[in-house]
Amino acid sequence: MSVVHGLSIDVECYYQIVWKDYLGKTREPTAEVERNTEWLLDCMRDAGVRGTYYMLGNVARAYPRLLRRIADEGHELGVHGDEHLYIYDLAPRTFHRELRVAIDAIEQASGQKVEGHRATAFSIVRETAWALDVIAELGLRYDSSIFPMQGRRYGIPDAPLGIHRLDNGLWEVPMTVVEAAGRRLPAGGGGYFRTFPYAYTAWALQKLEDAGRPAVTYFHPHEFELSCPRVGAATALRHPRAAVRLAKFNAAQSVGRGKRMRRRFARMLRDHAFVPVRDLLPAEPTGPD
Ligand SMILES: [Zn+2]
Repeated sequence: MSVVHGLSIDVECYYQIVWKDYLGKTREPTAEVERNTEWLLDCMRDAGVRGTYYMLGNVARAYPRLLRRIADEGHELGVHGDEHLYIYDLAPRTFHRELRVAIDAIEQASGQKVEGHRATAFSIVRETAWALDVIAELGLRYDSSIFPMQGRRYGIPDAPLGIHRLDNGLWEVPMTVVEAAGRRLPAGGGGYFRTFPYAYTAWALQKLEDAGRPAVTYFHPHEFELSCPRVGAATALRHPRAAVRLAKFNAAQSVGRGKRMRRRFARMLRDHAFVPVRDLLPAEPTGPD
């Protein structure tokens, strides 16, 4: 049988996160996250594809109808934290509380049981491996957060490439890298999909299909936003230094987004087969009946 890949969306509001990370300000998620997630849902419905939406708790509280639609259309709902905090900034107890609150919000809004976790910015690294025990303690079935390579801010360079079970019973569904010329190259989502030529993703997916190994692709609703993010003049005047860093970040994030991203994503759905991430796990043995 041909290989089917995992398709995942990390659902977060761009403006809420950059305000927190660059200006140290809290704000509610904006309608950006809703309209772009709706676009993804329409696109996936038209293509007849289901995937996993890893949600923030704060989005679940602000847009419960969106979660209901995701569940109604047959997608999986996973958890992506509550307020998009990075695990390396948290104590285990705080992470536990943050995740509990988020799972409750997502389950309440969607009526679906959460089984999977995607760490914010892949922040499960060697120093934060304790997080995997917290995730298992909360009763989740799998985690999909570890990048088995050395990234600038994330990654565990010698982590296994394939889906594997941890000692605590949790399944790990690693992010996708392909091995070429003795190196591990990241593929399948985010900036690697948005800024590299489409041919790179096509090559990586084909290589994985030849090897019989599924990819885990990942996207963010804001990558599909048609307008480019900007720093408002009032914000720039109030926080000049942060505004410069934020303007640079916005410029980097603007590469390939919007229309081109929409076209490429729809093409990828036509060219390859996808399922929700939990469907990549081996079937649980059923008990005696
Ligand atoms: Zn995220």
